[in-house]
Amino acid sequence: MTIRIRKGQTGKRLLNTVIEMSGVDLSVCYQCKKCSCGCTVLNHAESPPSEIVRRLQLGAGEELLNNDLIWTCVSCETCYARCPMGIDMVSVMDALRRLAIERRAKIPEGNVPLFNNAFLKTVKFFGRTYDLGSGPDGNV
Ligand code: SF4
Ligand code: SF4
Repeated sequence: MTIRIRKGQTGKRLLNTVIEMSGVDLSVCYQCKKCSCGCTVLNHAESPPSEIVRRLQLGAGEELLNNDLIWTCVSCETCYARCPMGIDMVSVMDALRRLAIERRAKIPEGNVPLFNNAFLKTVKFFGRTYDLGSGPDGNV
């Protein structure tokens, strides 16, 4: 995939915000792509995780918040386990999800954002996931 960074849009503000929110130093990524090779949802997203990091490093702007990997990522941590530099991609994805909501980026229709919202509300209420509260049809 060709990555285009337009002149005048090469600020590092989104990168710095993501680093601040996630606590992850993305500058150490050297694009070995081990994360992408093991990504559980690689065939279901428009970009692999290594591309997200590279686009942030190159100064991607708000358009990155429209990327569907932000919502397709299942937080399996495979990328984190494989990364030789210990980059915690799950925290990066969490930060990008929060930014996508805060900045009203295009959020895909369907069950993923709905599930994410329901999951976070359960954690906020119970302090953890609470499976016992689910009925046989999955409703809390
Ligand atoms: S595995 Fe780590 S160092 Fe390699 S491309 Fe992915 S994030 Fe970068
Ligand atoms: S945590 Fe997300 S980005 Fe990383 S391997 Fe799993 S699905 Fe892919």
